[in-house]
Amino acid sequence: MECIFCKIIKKEIPAEIIFEDKTTIVFKDIHPRAPIHFLILPKKHIASIKDLKSKDQKLMGNLFLVAKKIAKAKKLPGFKLVVNVGRPAGQLIEHLHLHFLAGRPIKMP
Ligand code: 5GP
Ligand code: ZN
Repeated sequence: MECIFCKIIKKEIPAEIIFEDKTTIVFKDIHPRAPIHFLILPKKHIASIKDLKSKDQKLMGNLFLVAKKIAKAKKLPGFKLVVNVGRPAGQLIEHLHLHFLAGRPIKMP
C-alpha cells in the first residue's frame, strides 16, 4: 500500500524532515496548526491505530521516544500529541501519524 506519506519516506516527494531513524520519520506539517507542528510516523505503512498488530508494539513505542527526543533537542517545556483515528475523527491521510504540537497553549478540539 502506497500513500503520500510513504512517498515522503522514500524521498519521492519533498518535506522538511527534521528527524529519522530506522523505523520512524518526523517532518513538518504542510499546514501548521501551531508554531511547531510536526508529524511523527512509522516508516512502515500502517493505515491507522485500528490496523495495529501486536508485533507493532515496539514500533509504536518508538514514536513516543522520538517525541521525547525532539522536545529535548528543541528545549520545549511541553507539547501535545494528537492522533486522529478514522475519517469521523478527522484522519485525512491513511498512514498512522502523531501530530506533535507546541509553541503556544493548544486547545483540545
Ligand atoms: P490527519 O488529518 O490525517 O490527522 O493529518 C494529516 C496532516 O498531514 C494534516 O495536518 C496535513 O496538513 C498534513 N499533510 C497533508 N499532506 C501533506 C504533505 O504532502 N506534506 C506534509 N508535510 N504534510 C501534509
Ligand atoms: Zn503510507
